[in-house]
Amino acid sequence: MKSITSGIFHVILLCSLALISFQEAGAADNAFIHQQIQQKTSAIYSELVAVRNNLHQHPELSGEEQRTASKIAASLTALGLDVIRDIGGHSVIGVIDTGKPGKSVAWRADIDAIPTAEGAGHNCGHDIHTTVALGMAEVLYSLKSQLTGKLIFVFQPAEETYTGARAMLDEGFLTAVQPDEFYAAHISPMPAGLVASKAGYLYADYRQVNLVFNNVVEPEATIALAKQSIMSLQSVAKESPFWNTANLMDPTIGLGNPDTIYQNYVVVESRFDVEHAGEALTVSGYVSASNNELMQLINKRLRQKMADSEFAASFVEVNNQSTQLTYSLQRGNINNAAQLTEQSLQSMAKIYGGGVLKLYGVIPDGRGDDFAYFQQHIPGTYFLLGGSDFSKGIVAMPHAPNFAVDERVIEYGVNYFSSLLVERLGL
Ligand SMILES: [Zn+2]
Ligand SMILES: [Zn+2]
Repeated sequence: MKSITSGIFHVILLCSLALISFQEAGAADNAFIHQQIQQKTSAIYSELVAVRNNLHQHPELSGEEQRTASKIAASLTALGLDVIRDIGGHSVIGVIDTGKPGKSVAWRADIDAIPTAEGAGHNCGHDIHTTVALGMAEVLYSLKSQLTGKLIFVFQPAEETYTGARAMLDEGFLTAVQPDEFYAAHISPMPAGLVASKAGYLYADYRQVNLVFNNVVEPEATIALAKQSIMSLQSVAKESPFWNTANLMDPTIGLGNPDTIYQNYVVVESRFDVEHAGEALTVSGYVSASNNELMQLINKRLRQKMADSEFAASFVEVNNQSTQLTYSLQRGNINNAAQLTEQSLQSMAKIYGGGVLKLYGVIPDGRGDDFAYFQQHIPGTYFLLGGSDFSKGIVAMPHAPNFAVDERVIEYGVNYFSSLLVERLGL
């Protein structure tokens, strides 16, 4: 509760400043509303834990979220929000319209579960995301008279299949609501109480790179060259501390240090797919790059590597029409708006202190979130919300079979992000 305590301290500090200067009234109003957020969140906390337990016991796979969506819609309607349903699947949108002019700021929660040995399970924490967003809707609705503009809560289905966001966009999401800014968060293995993000890519851009050869005379040599060429893209040495995931949170080389080793890299998985069909031989590798510029260079570097190869001349004229390079699995990648991200982290840090982390490194494991497709239309930020309590053996590693969440994260999440949305409305 360290960060909450320092937040309250900050509130008290601002209130006392306001007593001496009326010019600080704006800041004082904001401080008071954040205090109200914290009080309201604390008052509904046990109710939210019960909501989470209910969702947790009824996980539904992507595209099958009927029960979850009905529960969400019922809660939002009971609170008094305007509800829009079923745009691009089992989605629910709840709108708080203050009736006063101002910005429209949106928050997304994903609602689906993942396939498990038992059928389905909330091993990606989307039950927590849903509960936090419902909590935010309740807290902020209770403060409606003090807000301006519109708040839009988006409950998105089918995130796990990377299809839900696009389906919503294809089926009229931007006609139904027009957010000026759009935010979201995902449970992460950081300790509960921490929230983190960075400008630009948060996860490495992950792609399948296909080298397609036609009229191959020496298939074995061709396959070997293709694999070698793709492997040569890797920029991280075998013995680098990069490969030990424990180093992601290391204070000197981890994601949170400006000198992090998790930037400006290209990494290649050790598996390849080979397909020989008719005249065409295709060798596919899986490549992650920490930024778009490096990803764009891959084509050139691969061609160069193959042209330099001693094998090259013997079977194919590199750079002629008989060799092609294509990409697949080219998914939308989380790309946070630089200024909004900076401002959001700053405003949460001001209220909640040391619980807010600015990241510099790009997470290298090929994870992603289809919130990326919303970001292609609406600027905003995707946050990581710590959910672990290592002292109790609770590790919130998404998709791990023993995935577990410290439920206090519900309170942290509702506080942090309700305060964020209030700040973004700009009182
Ligand atoms: Zn997942
Ligand atoms: Zn997830």
